[in-house]
Amino acid sequence: MRLILLGPPGAGKGTQAKMLTEKLGVPQLSTGDMLREAVAAGTATGKKAKAVMEAGKLVSDAIVNAIVSERLDHKDCARGFILDGYPRTLAQADALSAMLRKKRKPLQKVVELVVDDDALVERIAGRYTCAKCGEGFHDKFKQPRNAGTCDKCGGTEFKRRADDNADTLRVRLFAYYKDTAPLTGYYHAQGMLRKIDGMGDITKVKRLLAAELGKGQKRRT
Ligand code: AMP
Repeated sequence: MRLILLGPPGAGKGTQAKMLTEKLGVPQLSTGDMLREAVAAGTATGKKAKAVMEAGKLVSDAIVNAIVSERLDHKDCARGFILDGYPRTLAQADALSAMLRKKRKPLQKVVELVVDDDALVERIAGRYTCAKCGEGFHDKFKQPRNAGTCDKCGGTEFKRRADDNADTLRVRLFAYYKDTAPLTGYYHAQGMLRKIDGMGDITKVKRLLAAELGKGQKRRT
């Protein structure tokens, strides 16, 4: 399955993408994760992206397009991929279409997770991850079963993203509505966009997404 998950920061794209990778056997391609790795590794790309990300603004199209194009050639994308956080501008969407045409791997689904702004702020303000395995948790919605211990790997160190604060979030939401929201029209015009209600809890959204992804599968494969 070649899929894009669309939606504002905090909509649950990353959480749902992670769960889908296991079910579909395809990787999650999160440009945010890739950029954070580049920043942590101190690569040339990371150095260019660091300040922009900390401010909540968008990294240049040229940088993210190059990262995604290279990543799509990895063997694990042969059966498909879940794009999470990319494309984020119309220019990126055009670049992606051109890349996929060239690689003869057309998109199959674009699903938007629809969530109210107030809920986004609450979700983002409370989220954190295991420093060892990256499993996601939330102060209110998903606490570890044993306090202070990761359910998945037993790690005891957790971290919060530098850009998950109220000020940066405002800038990120502005960037979303200005640059990324027009993509819903872009994919709608191509007859590809599906919307699901992202306001429910993780399990409910997972069920809605599975139902949406199941539609038309027999015809397509
Ligand atoms: P995310 O993890 O998707 O919330 O992304 C975190 C930050 O990485 C964003 O606020 C941007 O600064 C940068 N970023 C991630 N993906 C993109 C993209 N497709 N285009 C531009 N900047 C991006």
